Amino acid sequence: MAKFVGAIDQGTTGTRFIVFDHEGNQISSAYREHEQIYPEPGWIEHDPDEIWEKLGIVTEEALEEAGLNADDLVSVGITNQRETVFTWDERGEPLHNGIVWQDRRTSDRCEELEGTHVGEVVKGKTGLRLDPYFSATKIEWLLKNVNGLRGEAEKGEALFGTIESWLIWKLTGGDVYVTDHTNASRTMLFDIEEKVWDQELLDFFDVPRRSLPDPVENVQQYGEVSNLEPLNGVAIGAALGDQQAALFGQGCYNPGEAKNTYGTGSFLLVNVGDKPCFSENLLTTIGFSADGETRYALEGSIYSTGATIQWLRDGLNIVDEAAESEKLAKSVDGNDGVYMVPAFAGLGAPHWDSNARGTIVGLTRGSDERHLARAGLESIAYQVEDVLRSMKDEADQELDELRVDGGAAENNFLCQFQSDISSLPVVRTGVFESSALGAAYGAGLTVGFWNGLEELEELIKSKGSQRFEPDMEPRERAELYNRWIKAVKRARNWTS
Ligand code: ADP
Repeated sequence: MAKFVGAIDQGTTGTRFIVFDHEGNQISSAYREHEQIYPEPGWIEHDPDEIWEKLGIVTEEALEEAGLNADDLVSVGITNQRETVFTWDERGEPLHNGIVWQDRRTSDRCEELEGTHVGEVVKGKTGLRLDPYFSATKIEWLLKNVNGLRGEAEKGEALFGTIESWLIWKLTGGDVYVTDHTNASRTMLFDIEEKVWDQELLDFFDVPRRSLPDPVENVQQYGEVSNLEPLNGVAIGAALGDQQAALFGQGCYNPGEAKNTYGTGSFLLVNVGDKPCFSENLLTTIGFSADGETRYALEGSIYSTGATIQWLRDGLNIVDEAAESEKLAKSVDGNDGVYMVPAFAGLGAPHWDSNARGTIVGLTRGSDERHLARAGLESIAYQVEDVLRSMKDEADQELDELRVDGGAAENNFLCQFQSDISSLPVVRTGVFESSALGAAYGAGLTVGFWNGLEELEELIKSKGSQRFEPDMEPRERAELYNRWIKAVKRARNWTS
């Protein structure tokens, strides 16, 4: 009897394969980076063949490390970087490099459409906002600029898909051409209520329906691997975009449950239940779907959180390692009026200002690196609080607690300050690699390795957690936050 589940975690910088046991413990893991291709400033591409090749290497390595083979796996789940678009032909040959989510080549196109009827359709049907971040204008660009591609797409000979779609197609030797609901919900072409490709948007961006995969539920039998030696014969049992997979891995199965990942940037997702909930400044997206049921999520994407601490380390050289920022921040009693707005690449949710730039305000002769470290860490919490306030004010979503993960969640000062400034318990769970774990949980559920969400909730609880409770006077909280808002105003609109 097989005893393990595998997770393919295809991220922006690399691909990981992890083997988990029945207790959700990581048994082995292997990782390979792939090339970031920059054909022009602001453009970023990935080579689909390279990613496929690296997947072969990491699956073999991780299984070998654990002394296992395909027979020992009950199922495999997939989680992936979202929005990035690949195109390939019926033989599986890529027809262009993939255009990555960070790629800004369609900025002008999105600006041109700003304020038109399309923006409203996008918001109302897809829950997103007109932005080059999402897949639709990338597909439009490929169809316009790659020689012969439109003709092939019209005939259904050129296929498009987000990365899970490409991997499932490849893993099944071209037998299964699908996309999962969470990934589909990031394309700007998908009606998240009807869960179908939206004809109005397909017409608008001129994307032939037959060149797109069939959208299917997240947690279900996708097919069997037949084209990757180390995994041949293993069932593919789940696919989820990375942030939704993290929501699943953190056990946020009920409305009002939320997680925030403090990585390079941050993604705060709250489960809002079985109906989508729309907000002016946050994204509405599919959280996960299984057994005919769908859970929606509201999402706040923040560009620079952990990246701010990297900048303290590499740009300012005031810490040797990110973790040192904690000691430095704690060595002063307060921020002494110093605020840092890390709008290095503009501001994401809920401000959406691509012309904002980084700002430090409130400096005096008494300010030094301790205040900068503190201001850097505080800025992470303030940005998360901005998103939490939008969730409350625009969508009436109030949380009981916030589950946190990601590299910067290791920072105790940050977790406590987040709890204080948001007046909310912050729970650092014992879940690492939450995206991969979410994919593994989904894959295991499909084949009955785990028997339901309650069992997973128990499993996650058994890992333990650390709680940070709010401990700040409301007046102090209000004063600090109001100053932050003033600082954000200084950073906004800088380059326009
Ligand atoms: P990603 O998946 O985006 O690469 P990770 O979850 O690996 O991100 O987290 C890495 C980020 O977290 C880096 O930006 C780093 O600066 C930050 N980081 C790591 N440890 C700490 C810490 N103890 N305190 C503050 N920031 C940290």
